Amino acid sequence: MRLVLLGPPGAGKGTQARALGALWGIPQVASGDLLRAVVREDSDLGREAASYMDRGQLVPDDLVLKLVDARLRKEDARPGFILDGFPRNVTQAEALAKGLERYKLKLDKVVAVIVPDEEIVKRISGRRTCRNCNAMYHVMFEPPAKPGVCDKCGGELYQREDDAEETVRERLKVFAETTRPLLAHYDRLGLLAQVNGVGRTDEVEKRILTAVNGVAVPPK
Ligand code: ADP
Ligand code: ADP
Ligand code: ZN
Repeated sequence: MRLVLLGPPGAGKGTQARALGALWGIPQVASGDLLRAVVREDSDLGREAASYMDRGQLVPDDLVLKLVDARLRKEDARPGFILDGFPRNVTQAEALAKGLERYKLKLDKVVAVIVPDEEIVKRISGRRTCRNCNAMYHVMFEPPAKPGVCDKCGGELYQREDDAEETVRERLKVFAETTRPLLAHYDRLGLLAQVNGVGRTDEVEKRILTAVNGVAVPPK
C-alpha cells in the first residue's frame, strides 16, 4: 500500500498514519518529523529549515524532496508507506510521481482528511509530541497515562513551537493557498478520496480503511 494522507495541520494525519502503518506493517513517513530531525542537528541547513517552520511557511522543495527521497529508498519502505504531510504542493506531488515511476511504482490512493478550522484550533492547542519517538497526544482528547510522559517510550512530551496560535493561523493559510489545490490534482488522477476527520480516532481510521479498500479491513 502506497498511501498519501492529505489535510490541514492538526487534522489527525500523523495519528492515523501511525495507526495504519502499524496495522499494515509499513512505515509512516512524515516530512515534518524528517525536518525536525534535521533542525535538531544544529547545522546551517537545520537553521535554514527552522527559519521557515517557525513562521509557519513551507520549507523549500529541494530540501524536503531530498529528505523524503532518501527515506523512501530505505528497505522498510519497499512494501509500502504512508506519507504524512508530503506532498504539500503540486511541485512536490509531481516530483513524487516521477520518483516512483523510476521504480515502476505509483500511489494507490490519496485520502484527504477533512476537519473544520475551529476543531483544528482545539486539536493543535492541546497537542503534545514525544521528543523521542514523535508519538502525539492531546491533553484532553488523547491524554497520556502520566502527564508529560510518552506511554510508548517514556520520552518527554513537549508542545511544538509552531503550534502557537499565531503560527497555526499562518499554517492554515498556507494550507488553503498551496496544499488544498492538491485535492483537485489527485482527483483528476482518479486517486482522491475524502474522509470526514471529525470523530473518535478509531472511527476516522475505519473511514480511511473503507475509502482505501471499499470495506473496513486491512489490505493483503
Ligand atoms: P502539521 O501536520 O501540524 O502541519 P508538520 O509536522 O507536517 O505539521 O509540518 C510542520 C512544518 O514543517 C510545516 O509548517 C512546514 O514548515 C514544514 N514542512 C513539513 N512538511 C513539509 C513539506 N512537505 N514541504 C514544505 N515544508 C514542510
Ligand atoms: P496532523 O498530523 O494532521 O497535524 P495530529 O495527528 O498530530 O495531526 O493530531 C493533532 C492533535 O489532535 C493531536 O494532539 C492528536 O492527539 C489530536 N487528535 C488526532 N485525531 C483526533 C481525533 N479524531 N479526535 C480528537 N483529537 C484528535
Ligand atoms: Zn515516545
